[in-house]
Amino acid sequence: MSLRKIPIARTIYLWEGLALLRVYMDANATTPLLPEVVEAMRPYWMEHFGNASSIHHEGQQARAAVERARETIAAFLNCSNAEVIFNSGGTEGDNTAIFGLLRPGDHFITTSIEHSAILQAAEKMARQGVEITLIDPRPSGLIDPADILRGIRPQTRLISVMLANNETGVIQPVEEIGRIAADNGIYFHIDAVQGAGKVELDVRRFGCHLLSISAHKMHGPKGVGALFVRRGTPIEPLLVGGSHERRQRAGSENVPGIVGLAKAAELAMHSLEDGTITRLAALRDRLEAGILALPGTGVNGTFVPQTLGVPSMPRICFCGKGGISRTSTGHVYENGCNPVPRAANTTNIWFDQLEGEALVIALDLKGVSVSAGSTCHSGATEPSHVLMAMGLDKTRARASLRFSLLKTVTEADVDYVLKVVPEVVEHLRALSPVTAGTLG
Ligand code: PLP
Repeated sequence: MSLRKIPIARTIYLWEGLALLRVYMDANATTPLLPEVVEAMRPYWMEHFGNASSIHHEGQQARAAVERARETIAAFLNCSNAEVIFNSGGTEGDNTAIFGLLRPGDHFITTSIEHSAILQAAEKMARQGVEITLIDPRPSGLIDPADILRGIRPQTRLISVMLANNETGVIQPVEEIGRIAADNGIYFHIDAVQGAGKVELDVRRFGCHLLSISAHKMHGPKGVGALFVRRGTPIEPLLVGGSHERRQRAGSENVPGIVGLAKAAELAMHSLEDGTITRLAALRDRLEAGILALPGTGVNGTFVPQTLGVPSMPRICFCGKGGISRTSTGHVYENGCNPVPRAANTTNIWFDQLEGEALVIALDLKGVSVSAGSTCHSGATEPSHVLMAMGLDKTRARASLRFSLLKTVTEADVDYVLKVVPEVVEHLRALSPVTAGTLG
């Protein structure tokens, strides 16, 4: 039998004699390029292939494309063109902020829920004599700005806090942290890799000196991104060589990638305005409510006690009220709790008695792509550092799954996942030798 793959819809592939519906709900890992992005990039592979540093016609065509893209990214971030440095993505932006600013003897404040691009860079700096303070989140997944304030010392040179967490979607109170940094004369970096396209970005309002974005998390190509560097921020380049990017990032510009990043950002700005992200939040809420109807489930990253207050929220964020406070699962949230702001596309759910990894594999076999936040070290699976920092025990952290929806998600996609998840959960729980049958 020939295995010719014929796309008949975005998520449905027909193998000869066998129809398999695939629903991709791992957008926080990466996203597919949108057709408009592919079209925008296409001429820059062959027709307009010039090196943007060359002074001849081909070079000038490439230069013009890069500068147009810079203008779009400046509008996306609300900064000036000269403050946009194109690079290879989120990891490079995060590393540049840390390696470019910190020197032995400095103190650096970040959080224990950052991406490894921040945490590993911090660890490296610690070996070189930089003091590091890691701030833990509250059980809701939120970083309390008061904890950041308490961590400040005379030598504190940099604070780095992510905008949206990649595992829970929880949106951090970056404006308040920006004010704290400004009041204390400290540089402030935001890892906005997961926030971009889901929350309106505004570096002036956030009060940051540095902000990283990555194209592939918002339907652009992999291996390209940008770092906002506020004018006057004394950042040492990570890469040296040619005088590209105002001598802040050497290396011939990835022209098709930069054009793709800009197109993805332009489309992301439209999505924030035209109701796409609101619709996405509604579908995420429906998915979440449907899964929470199963016994022994709950959401990681939901409510904060009112005594902590509600952090000022970025202009577009979605708390995901739909179904979270339902009592049918036995989770009764006490009065006096406020919903935590979350990115519109993400929900992180624990399933009692189950291993996230087993669920990922079982769902994959049914055509559903999701992820467990765990990482594999030397063959052993470690639970998510984010969930552990929020105070989950190892078992519950290992029993958690992240559903992160594409903005192109359909009602039918959600229906399919809501059909498949209960089947898989029931099946795996029936096989669970330890606790089978204990759920009411
Ligand atoms: N920061 C966050 C929050 C991320 O989720 C990721 C990727 O998963 C990165 C940084 C790294 O970005 P990139 O894949 O572009 O290097």
